Amino acid sequence: MRALVKETAGPGFRLKEVPEPRIRDDEVLIRVRRAGVCGTDVHIYEWDDWAKGRCRPPFVVGHEFAGEAVEVGKLVADVSVGDRVTAEGHIVDGRCLLCRTGNAHVCPNTKIIGVDRDGCFAEYIAMPATNVWHLDDNIPFEVGGIHDPMGNAFHTALTADIPGATVLVTGCGPIGLFAVGICRAAGASRIIASDINEKRLALARQMGAHDAVTPRQAEGAVRRATGGLGVDVVLEMSGVSSAVHQAFALVRVGGRVQMLGIPSKPVDIDFATEIIFKGITIYGVVGRRMYDTWIQMTQFLRSGQFDPTPVITHRFPLECADEAIRAIKSGEAGKVVFEVA
Ligand code: NAD
Ligand code: ZN
Repeated sequence: MRALVKETAGPGFRLKEVPEPRIRDDEVLIRVRRAGVCGTDVHIYEWDDWAKGRCRPPFVVGHEFAGEAVEVGKLVADVSVGDRVTAEGHIVDGRCLLCRTGNAHVCPNTKIIGVDRDGCFAEYIAMPATNVWHLDDNIPFEVGGIHDPMGNAFHTALTADIPGATVLVTGCGPIGLFAVGICRAAGASRIIASDINEKRLALARQMGAHDAVTPRQAEGAVRRATGGLGVDVVLEMSGVSSAVHQAFALVRVGGRVQMLGIPSKPVDIDFATEIIFKGITIYGVVGRRMYDTWIQMTQFLRSGQFDPTPVITHRFPLECADEAIRAIKSGEAGKVVFEVA
């Protein structure tokens, strides 16, 4: 089969023929139709310090996808050949303290497809049946293929108290843009979205932001919307240190900051003034809750009140991996997807 492979410890991907994966008795073989391209793939492509420390080439890249089941192992009861599916890309052990207490999203033994084992930028991928998630008939493969980052946004937004809330979303990358739409569907009373990129602010308006502003304008927008008190909830979705400080500054006393963005280096925090005396709650987001987030995501899509498709701006075949990575790096794109088959 054709696959995008991280072949050696250096920059780039290579499209090449590799053997089709063989499934175990508890796995499903999936023919990939659509696959989302993510910032993590850019790190692996560029072979930065994080990638050097984490990844062991050669392996097939990619962790966001949807497709059809084409073969099921003999222990698999709830997936059949022909089913339209996506999958949770974090493979957990299912038996540790965290998994057994409903917190599998922070299982210390997590293996991520396309990072720690072969991924989905390929014609086929083998997945444990426990990770496979059925798509409703009316959900296009393209939307199935972005369930992973959309799930990050659902996890971040819906573990806060959004109905009626005033919300600041710092960072309108694909995940921040999804979060704007989710907060709108969940009944936030006012959504202020900030970014430095005008294209992304325009997409934020399209996704339902009441105010889409630059970081410099954010303070004024929050002041006007909240009578100077600060917002009930901040979703920090940029990973930029100045935005992290702004999140703590603009959340109200007793409010909540949901931290999804991953700073590339340590951030100096004044705990006394930024956190303690503000009496705020901070929640660190890791991936998607298994499987509460997936159930909520499916039900929001079913309700028709949340439509992620405006966020998808660029589509490429696997042959155009370099262009896909360039589109993400340019800041011109919302979500970028591969049309695999
Ligand atoms: P992204 O990294 O492109 O989005 C970040 C956005 O923040 C960009 O649009 C950028 O212009 C904007 N930005 C830069 N400076 C800003 C500032 N001062 N104020 C407001 N916005 C600013 O794309 P993404 O895929 O949406 O990822 C968002 C973040 O989430 C990244 O840091 C990524 O590493 C992280 N992430 C975390 C998890 C998790 O499980 N915690 C999972 C996936 C991604
Ligand atoms: Zn575990």
